[in-house]
Amino acid sequence: MDAKDPLAAKRAEFYLPENTIYLDGNSLGPMTHAAKDRVNAVMTQQWGDDLITSWNKHQWIDLPEIVGEKIAPIIGAGPGQVICCDSVSINLFKVISAALSLNPSRHKVLSQNDNFPTDLYMTQGLENLLGREKCQLVTTKEEDILDSLDESIAVLMLTQVNFRTGRIHDIQSITEKAHQLGILVIWDLAHSAGAIPVKVDEWGVDFAVGCGYKYFNGGPGAPAFVYVAEKHLAALEQPLSGWMGHASPFEFSPDYEKPPSIKQFLCGTPGVVSMSVLDASLDLFTDINIEMIREKSLALTDLFIELVNQEESLNQLEIITPLEHDERGSQIAYCHDDAYAICQALIAEGVIADFRAPNILRFGFSPLFLRYADIEKSVELLIDVVSEKRYDSEQFRSRKAVT
Ligand SMILES: *Cc1c(COP(=O)(O)O)cnc(C)c1O
Repeated sequence: MDAKDPLAAKRAEFYLPENTIYLDGNSLGPMTHAAKDRVNAVMTQQWGDDLITSWNKHQWIDLPEIVGEKIAPIIGAGPGQVICCDSVSINLFKVISAALSLNPSRHKVLSQNDNFPTDLYMTQGLENLLGREKCQLVTTKEEDILDSLDESIAVLMLTQVNFRTGRIHDIQSITEKAHQLGILVIWDLAHSAGAIPVKVDEWGVDFAVGCGYKYFNGGPGAPAFVYVAEKHLAALEQPLSGWMGHASPFEFSPDYEKPPSIKQFLCGTPGVVSMSVLDASLDLFTDINIEMIREKSLALTDLFIELVNQEESLNQLEIITPLEHDERGSQIAYCHDDAYAICQALIAEGVIADFRAPNILRFGFSPLFLRYADIEKSVELLIDVVSEKRYDSEQFRSRKAVT
């Protein structure tokens, strides 16, 4: 399978430590050689030699748009609708506010009760700020979302791939039903952008946000992105009206004036080093397409599931990720009472996965650098850890600050 893999050559673009199988690229993508070279150039030639002239000379000022335009085709967006800035959380605050501003006769924001916490927290913060009569978070179980849509709801905010289970929502059909009822939609693409085909324009998505440090390999704390359908840019309002999002920032005028473009979603000065790293890593996507990535992702997860199923001692791991291809993201999650200790013992064996409270062992599959042979080897080590109970020690049970 590795010999026939059309993405096999991409692995050489990454720095990967020896004797490590990295099944956590969905949480923090590994370093690319391009990123390292770019940091050197930004530090020495740009910041070092050219100092402040680099804002023009090296296009620092245009980076948010340049990076946004690189992300756009990966999520199915036409030009002028994606910009790179801030974190997913901050961008959620902006798009929830913007969506509410476009639907002023309503105030409810519907989400899923097990959505990624920051999506819920940011809405709660806005609810506290604006008051319940302007913004009210309502949550429901995943299976009840479609039935919970009605004409009292202003905004539906969901994450395409559930960060715990890996279950995929059908963006197109949910968006269509929401629109029939006059509801605007926000899709969080944190666990899908760069791994799953997304067609925001074709599917009529109103707003989307996503992550730079997961499948885009933009480095720790890389900036995020925001997508806004062009038709909304003129009428919407978003409250983080910083100077970088002004129509003419360098006129330094006392009053905010919004530009007609996606630049109205910028707030303050971008983190140039971090954004440059993301920019460099995104070049890995230019000569391939997302369908190739998806095909390999499904083959990798199929193989992992099959090898785990073949081993009786792994029966105690309960899979919570859907087996159907069209419902499965690029990750696999299992429940086990000792999930945390198993994860730590696996890391000690050189297989980096992660743990999500309360009892989930999660494996992420990044098709750009993983080989099928890595899948085989990681399941062998998982079998050793579980069947020999190698995880059953205090060393692996004590919780670290970041799990
Ligand atoms: C990773 C992730 C985030 C991260 O948000 P930041 O503010 O960039 O830290 C947000 N939402 C989801 C669904 C995620 O998986």
